[in-house]
Amino acid sequence: MWGMIATWRMALEGVEKGCDMLMQGRSAGDAVEAAIREVEDFPYYKSVGYGGLPNEEMEVELDAAYMDGDTLSVGAVAAVRDYANPVSIARRLSQEPVNNLLVGEGAEKFAHKEGFERKNMLTDRAKAFYRKRQREVAQQELKPYAGHDTVGMVCLDGNGKVTAATSTSGLFMKKKGRVGDSPIVGSGFYADSKVGGASATGLGEDLMKGCISYEIVRLMKEGLHPQEACERAVNLLDKELKERRGKAGDLSLIAMNREGQWGAATNIEGFSFVAAAEGQRPRVYLVKRGADGHCTFEEASGEWLDDYMRTRMAPVEE
Ligand code: ASP
Repeated sequence: MWGMIATWRMALEGVEKGCDMLMQGRSAGDAVEAAIREVEDFPYYKSVGYGGLPNEEMEVELDAAYMDGDTLSVGAVAAVRDYANPVSIARRLSQEPVNNLLVGEGAEKFAHKEGFERKNMLTDRAKAFYRKRQREVAQQELKPYAGHDTVGMVCLDGNGKVTAATSTSGLFMKKKGRVGDSPIVGSGFYADSKVGGASATGLGEDLMKGCISYEIVRLMKEGLHPQEACERAVNLLDKELKERRGKAGDLSLIAMNREGQWGAATNIEGFSFVAAAEGQRPRVYLVKRGADGHCTFEEASGEWLDDYMRTRMAPVEE
C-alpha cells in the first residue's frame, strides 16, 4: 500500500507528481520532496516558495521541514531567504548528524555551500499584495496576518516508509525572524513509519501550544484511526485555547497511518486537502465541521476547482 495526503488544494499538482513516483516504486522521501517542490515552484501560490508573501520588511522568509519516519531523522530551515526550494535544503539537513535545524543566515550559508539554487523569491505579484495589504491595514479593513497557508504532506511508500514535509512563507506581514510551527518537529509535522504521520496548517503560535502533529501520531499509536486522532487533537486544543485564552487560532490537520488510511480535521470553515492512495487517484476534498466538532468531507466540484485557479491567477487590484 502507498498513499499521500496534503494540506490545501494547492498541493494537488505536487501530490499527482508524488503519486506517479510512488507508483513507479520510488521512495516516500523522493516523492514527498518532489511534491513539495512542485508547490514551491508555482508562482501563483502565495504562501509557499516562489511568489510567497513577504514579511513586514517586504522580504520573503521561508520555513520548511522534512522527516524520515524510519530513522526519525529531521531536517528544517527557518526564515531562509532567496533559495528556490527550502524543502530540499531541509531534507539535506536531515542527513547531518547534528545541526539539523538552521535559521536565517546560517541556513543560507549551508545552502550556498551545498550548491542549492539561489533565486529571488519576491515576485512583482507578491509586492503588489504587500502594497495592497499596507493600504488595507492602514484603513483598518483587515488584520495584517490574514492570508497564510502551509503545504504540509504525509507520504507512505510501498516499503512501508512514512515521511512528512512542510513548506511555507509563514504569516503574511510577520516580524522579521518570526518562525511558525512548520519547521518545528512535533508541531508542524511528525512521521513514524511504525505508526504514520501528521502535518498542520493554521496559526503556528497556537498549533505549537499543542505539539499537535506529534499528538496525532501518538493517538494513532494508541490505535485510533487517523480521522479520530485528528478530530480528537484539534477539538481538544481548540477547547483548551478557548478556555484558557478566550480564543483559538486556525488549526487544520491531516494524517495518514501506515496502512494508508487517512483523516483530516479543522476548527475553521474552508479547509481543503488532497488525498490519494493505491487505487484512489488524488482528489481535492472540502472539510465541513459540525457543531459537535465532527468533520466530514465532500469532493470539490469542477466548478469549485475552476474558481480556485481563477481567483489564484486573477490580477492583483492595487
Ligand atoms: N502554520 C503557518 C505558520 O504559522 C501558517 C499557515 O499554515 O497558515 O507559519
